[in-house]
Formats: sequence, C-alpha cells, structure tokens
Amino acid sequence: MRIVVDLNRCQGYAQCVYLAHEVFRLNGQEALTYEPNPDDARRLQVERAAAACPVQAIVIDRLDGEERGETS
Ligand code: SF4
Repeated sequence: MRIVVDLNRCQGYAQCVYLAHEVFRLNGQEALTYEPNPDDARRLQVERAAAACPVQAIVIDRLDGEERGETS
C-alpha cells in the first residue's frame, strides 16, 4: 500500500504515531517522517491513523492495484 502525508497540513499532533508507530515517526516536535510504502499487514493501523488525524493529512492511495489483483 502507498500513503502520502500532506506535511503542509500536518500539525504534529502525533495521533498517527500512537496508532501506527512502525509507519509514522515524529523527529522533534513537528517533523513527521513516515514509511510511504508500508506493508499491507499494516493497513488497518494506517487506516486508523488516517481516521484519527485531526487535519486529515494522511491520504491512503487506493489505486495502487493491490485490491484489484494487478501486478504493477
Ligand atoms: S496525526 Fe496528522 S497532524 Fe498528527 S502527526 Fe499524524 S499526520 Fe500529522
């Protein structure tokens, strides 16, 4: 799966870090870093993190073909 975080929106609330700490990390107070291609096993965590983000900064790419059985 692929994710994108709009870092212009992100306010460093760290809700995503609590819910999916393997995927999202805060370096310092507001510098969020993240794994843009997390393992599909993390999908539920990432979806919860995206839902919890107060500013909806986390976008999950649903067109990457994984749910459609495409290979590319
Ligand atoms: S929950 Fe949203 S605002 Fe907070 S650190 Fe994560 S992406 Fe940024």
